[in-house]
Amino acid sequence: MATAEPTTRIEMFPRRDGVLHCEELPVSELVARWGTPLYVYSKNGIRDRYRELAEALAPVPHLIAYSVKANGNLGVLRTLAELGAGADVVSGGELHRARLAGIPGERIVYSGVGKTVNELAAALDAGIYAFNVESEGELCALSDLACTMGTRAPIALRVNPDVETPTPHAYTRTGHAATKFGIAYERARDLYSIAAKMKGITVRGVDVHIGSQIMEVGPFERALARVLDLVHALKQDDIPLEFLDLGGGLGIAYQGEERITGASFASTLLPEILETGLKLVVEPGRFIVGEAGVLLTRVIYVKEGGGKRFVITDAGMNDLLRPSHYSGWHAVEPAVAQGRSMARVDVVGPICETGDFLALDRDMELPKPGELLAIHTVGAYGFSMSSQYNQRPRPAEVLVDGAEATLVRRRENYEEMVAAEML
Ligand SMILES: *Cc1c(COP(=O)(O)O)cnc(C)c1O
Repeated sequence: MATAEPTTRIEMFPRRDGVLHCEELPVSELVARWGTPLYVYSKNGIRDRYRELAEALAPVPHLIAYSVKANGNLGVLRTLAELGAGADVVSGGELHRARLAGIPGERIVYSGVGKTVNELAAALDAGIYAFNVESEGELCALSDLACTMGTRAPIALRVNPDVETPTPHAYTRTGHAATKFGIAYERARDLYSIAAKMKGITVRGVDVHIGSQIMEVGPFERALARVLDLVHALKQDDIPLEFLDLGGGLGIAYQGEERITGASFASTLLPEILETGLKLVVEPGRFIVGEAGVLLTRVIYVKEGGGKRFVITDAGMNDLLRPSHYSGWHAVEPAVAQGRSMARVDVVGPICETGDFLALDRDMELPKPGELLAIHTVGAYGFSMSSQYNQRPRPAEVLVDGAEATLVRRRENYEEMVAAEML
């Protein structure tokens, strides 16, 4: 599926004779094998997005540290590991997954404001590339631990550049001063001097992450300018650096809007990075997998009330949290077009919460009970944010490569949902 233009979701999920496909396979066949709700990912879509970025960044030494929290399925991680990707992890659990999928320690960076001693120790054991340190307390804990373990911890300080970032939801903005993330910009230079003298610490880089679903290069440019000022100050302080980490946050097309391409990101930012001679680390999550996933769900009932028409599906907010948590908008369409007239509907789940919806006030072909709907652009922060709320087993996940489909996570069952509990 290598095309000159960046791959779109329409190419990953084409419609043939009215039937939605993932690459070569009709989604109805996947559902016949594995049931609903079902997450389906396009393996070539994931590969294409990774390659788009890798080719754009080729002029500089770089590491694409895929953000595991976007979608940590082992099949997805293995796909990226095979392409040479690294990982950005935010917990011991994600570190475990990344290693299990074959991502070597030297391609892993570890972010997060609340790393515990056990998690730090596991990451030191794994020989990761860098800890993105988010506080002075963490820096001290890490140095003490590394000394005890007879080693040194490679670090970057995650600096809060205090730039305003226009993202669709306040919960996904992390680059202004008043968030819990990172180290205050004014404090960073001093803390680097302290870090450089610590016995258990090797200063290796500088890190920022300003938010998620960013649709323009401008905010990255502003963050880079702040980071470059710091890089120059550290040079004066004789603190050598090896890398510069610009974080993740590249946005995707939920509604067919224009997104940042690898090429536009690179053409704006690379010239200045090249001048520093530093290695570039990026931590994209959504950009790599977001458009490459659909959630297939079956309509259970259609009902009317209070002047509204509700399509009730077997997928709910426990399977896909984005609509209720972030007001996330996802295209919804029948998996098999019926040619019926359009109607305005709310697509809602079976969960006992008013906030349990997948889409509100949508005009779509009115489906009948038993028919399939596809919820688009759910490859990132879909399954990874799912829960068992209302004691619902989490969905199965399938990875499609051309005409071949692989079950990469089977559906959960009731026994395992109570397995950790004691009577
Ligand atoms: C969530 C996160 C990312 C990935 O964000 P995307 O918007 O999915 O690219 C990268 N780095 C850090 C530190 C994060 O918290």
